[in-house]
Parts: sequence; structure tokens; C-alpha cells
Amino acid sequence: MAMTLVILASQCCNCSNRYYMQCNFALLKSLKFLLLLACWYGNTSFQISNMVSVVLQPDYFVEEPSIAPNYYKKVQLVLEGNKTHRLNLGQLYSAIKVQGIDSSNSWITAETGHEQLTFGKSIDDPNIDIPINFKILEKSTNLLVLNTATSTAVEIELFYAPPISIKSNKERNKKADCEKPITIPQSEWRSGLPEPDSGRNEVTVKHCIIHHSAGSNTDTNYVNTIRNIYLLHTQSNGWDDIGYNFVIAPNGTIFSGRDPQGVAEEDNIQGAHFCGKNSGTMGICLLGNYNLTSPTSMMKGSLNELLAWKLHKEEIDANISFPHPTSWDENLGSVAMHKDGCPTACPGDSVSLIIDDIKYDVQQAIDACSGSVAIQKSEKKFKQMVYPNPSSGKFYALIEKRANISTYRILDQQGNEIQKSIYPASGKITTNVPSGSYYLELRNKNNSVSTQIILIENQ
Ligand SMILES: [Zn+2]
Repeated sequence: MAMTLVILASQCCNCSNRYYMQCNFALLKSLKFLLLLACWYGNTSFQISNMVSVVLQPDYFVEEPSIAPNYYKKVQLVLEGNKTHRLNLGQLYSAIKVQGIDSSNSWITAETGHEQLTFGKSIDDPNIDIPINFKILEKSTNLLVLNTATSTAVEIELFYAPPISIKSNKERNKKADCEKPITIPQSEWRSGLPEPDSGRNEVTVKHCIIHHSAGSNTDTNYVNTIRNIYLLHTQSNGWDDIGYNFVIAPNGTIFSGRDPQGVAEEDNIQGAHFCGKNSGTMGICLLGNYNLTSPTSMMKGSLNELLAWKLHKEEIDANISFPHPTSWDENLGSVAMHKDGCPTACPGDSVSLIIDDIKYDVQQAIDACSGSVAIQKSEKKFKQMVYPNPSSGKFYALIEKRANISTYRILDQQGNEIQKSIYPASGKITTNVPSGSYYLELRNKNNSVSTQIILIENQ
């Protein structure tokens, strides 16, 4: 009997952790053999040389009882080397994840009748947001043909997000600068999919973390993409909700991510995207792979708007850093990349190349929005110089004209005001304070713009 495909019934694995099921396949092969023979003859399948056709019955799926079977199913199979395994999935699926679960680590390829898929051998980057063995299909399929060079046990996860049509936010009204940009709420893009679990934590955001999905750069069905990522995160990963607070498509559409469930505003809800240290972060995912390709200008524009709104709201400078437990050195930036805090390549080299430009543009946007907050927080942004320093009490304090300095103050080490005067257009300041170290504060109409240490050495 040329039985070449062993289907493991769900009861074979009595594991509580459904992500890392470990089964003794050799033992199970023998135990299930007679049962499988019965199943085999019971199915309306056919067999020709080197091809196995199996109708997957519901009993063969390993699945959580709470999961709606039409959105997500999981099955474990043993694929035989150099055989073609033709699986009738019984319904349409829009995404597929295939993972080797034994040590053979074989190369796995597949086709759906519409497209070729390569699942590879293993996941190179365990911290990658969307694993490379998760494929969102260009066209839903009810057929999956699997091939592998050597026999291997695999776990196949099947996802189905039924197609919906919603209005792109390109057609929606654009908000003014530093107002919250228009987003597509989860209630719209999640239509027809299971609700997220409850349980939300409010966080005070100090770090906006940029990710990429590492997915297709040619796929333009962004609604379908985020719906399948939602299924991956909630059904396969077992998370409460999609991991990110926001998702940005190459056409500039911004999707709201985690459902805040009334706990806080959506940008202050703790996500699941930063190697388990999500406190203090807001996650933004760029759809696509930005290892070799740069984000589109529309995508960068939406990212800029989102960051400018959030940082302005929190009164945080785009170039400032704060302590965070994941950072390689002491601090993590207010605008940071996933790889700044976790061992991953996310969000790709092309984002690394422009991250400083992104921060600069965001700070420019913040500065343009509101002088009062932005200037107060952006003293590092203005080019400035004190010369000479140390001085005998006569020195120049020069700063960019756009800082609009109107007055200056000299403070002692305790912060007591020693001298206050109109800031001269020439920048030339004269003081007769005793020798010592002081603070020179430059102010515009409302705020302190710059504080720096000056040394006075009277002769
Ligand atoms: Zn990431």
C-alpha cells in the first residue's frame, strides 16, 4: 500500500501551547495507520504515480474550539519527499502559513493554481513581524499543492478573510497639520472577521516604533492584507488583537490598529510588536518590504503626519531619547525602528537610510504647527554658538534668526536670575558677573529656546 501522506488527527497532540506543538511522528504514524487507511478509503481521493490527493476532513484539523473554523484552520501533515501532495481545502482561503515542525528542515514549495509559493526551510528572523512562511494570496484558493525534497512533518495554517470593499482614506478629508490624520477604523476594515479579545493596557507613549510587514511590494489590496495580518496575529499568534497601533499602506492610507475598547485613545493602547517590551511604545507598520525598496512618498507623507500629530500631542521632540529596557545603549529614540530595540532587520535597510530625514521632517512639521510647544522642546534644532567661551564677560551668543530670540537671561548654578536684558541683534552680550560658571538662556516672546553653560573668567 503506497500510503505516502500521513494525516495526524487533532487528538494526537495534547499540547497546551498551540504554537510549538511537538509530536512524536514516528509513533503516531504507526498508531494511526489503520485509522488512516480507513480514512483513505472513505475519501473520494485518487492516486497516480508520485501524486497524492487527499480531501481534508474537519476531523483532521487541529484547531482551538473557540476559533471559528471558516476563518482559521490548522492541520499537521507528514509530507513525503519528492511526492506531490494535492490538498483539497474544502473552502477558499486567503492566506497560508506552512512551517516545518520536525528536524528535517526540508525546503517546502507550494502552488495554488494561481500562484507559486516558497515557504523555505525555516524562519531566519524570529522577531520578524510577519514571518516569511506566511503568504497572503493574490487570489483566494481552495487548492494547495505541496512539494518537498525530503520527508518532513509540517504544520499548515489556513486563513480566510472574506473580501470587503471600503472607502480608501485618500478620498477622505485631509486634516490640518498636527491634527490626527484620517484613519480607517478597525470596525470598518475588520468587518466580517471575529472580534478581538478584551483586555487592554493604557501606556504613556515615549517611543513611536516603525515596522514593516516584510510582505509584498506589488500587492495593492491593502484592506485584504491588513485583514489577513489581523487573522495571523489573533488566530495563529494567539494575540488579543492586531499587534500595531497603526498600519500605513503604500498609497498613504492609514489604518487604525488595536481596538482601544474604551480603555484609552487608540494611540495610547499597549500593542504587541516590540519583543515583549511594549510599554511606552506606539507601533506603526509600513505594509511592504523595505529592505531594498524605499517607502513611497505617499507612505512617507502619512508616516510624517502620524508622527507629527503624536509627538506634538505628547510634547516630545522628534530627536529626543528616553530610557527603554530594550535599547542597546541607555536610551531609545522618540522615533525609533524595531531593530533599534530587538534583534531583527525590521523595518529594513531602506528605512534605516531615511530615518534621520524622517525625524527631521517630523520636527519641522511640529515646529510649524505650534511655536509654543515646538520651540520650547526643540532647542537642539537651532544652530547656535557662544564665542568665545570661556570669556572675560564679553561674548557673542549667536543663534538662527528663525528662533526669534527677544531676551536673554544669565542664571547662576542654582538657577537664580543674575542678569536679564533685551537680546541684541548683533548677539553681542556684555556682563560683569564674577568669575564662574553660569547658564545663558535665550528666550523668544513666550519661551526658553536655548540654555547653555558659559564660563566667565575675569582678569
Ligand atoms: Zn517590526
